[in-house]
Amino acid sequence: MEDQLGSLRPGHLFVVSAPSGTGKTTLVQRLVTRVPGIVMSRSYTSRPPRVGEVDGVDYNFISAQRFTEMVKADAFLEWATVFGYCYGTSAADTDAHRRAGRDVVLVIDVQGAAQVRNRTGDVVSIFVMPPSYQELKHRLWRRSNVGDSEGQLQRRLDIARHEVETRTVYDYGVVNDDLDRCVNSLECIVMAERARILAVADQMTDIARTFSE
Ligand code: ADP
Ligand code: 5GP
Repeated sequence: MEDQLGSLRPGHLFVVSAPSGTGKTTLVQRLVTRVPGIVMSRSYTSRPPRVGEVDGVDYNFISAQRFTEMVKADAFLEWATVFGYCYGTSAADTDAHRRAGRDVVLVIDVQGAAQVRNRTGDVVSIFVMPPSYQELKHRLWRRSNVGDSEGQLQRRLDIARHEVETRTVYDYGVVNDDLDRCVNSLECIVMAERARILAVADQMTDIARTFSE
């Protein structure tokens, strides 16, 4: 994308939120491998890595002290405390991607999504719903062998009840029942945003000029 465009239009900013365990990380990982020109943002967190998670791949894992320093330095586009740990999106990393013409997807909780909406006018937000509360519980239990205690799981479910109430302020909503179908829906949303008349204005103006040459 970067190579093709002379003067670059900044990439789009997407936010994807869902109760923990719904499948948003799985979905967005598939989306970015399927669609060119879009990246998933890598958050900073004070949470310790789960078994199998890699620093600099799944998250940038940092200490609580370092996180506080970054908050003081205004390094985050948004940040929130979720399940007792801090999570945040680097403003500089996000800007760098967008300035290079790449679309960026933030996979963040509902508090962070609200902050991004307040700070940035041009964000497109997507809420992913699990098929049901029971199915969410199953997915969380299935994932639990990678590090969460029973108490932590119950906490995630309790918070999920509140999170689903925020769905109406999002621009788009998709239900993650069938994984492939849900990735298709996300892809359609990205493509629709890329085809907005303002997003294609420069390219179309160049083409329109050829009509008067
Ligand atoms: P989140 O990022 O929302 O916390 P994850 O992407 O970690 O969720 O997914 C939670 C669990 O649910 C994982 O074990 C994942 O493989 C599984 N999962 C995701 N989407 C689906 C789906 N459509 N059907 C069944 N299981 C799914
Ligand atoms: P987990 O510990 O399961 O990886 O993530 C817990 C929650 O934190 C999820 O809802 C996830 O979307 C959210 N999260 C991850 N990164 C960020 C971030 O940078 N900012 C915010 N606000 N939430 C995040």
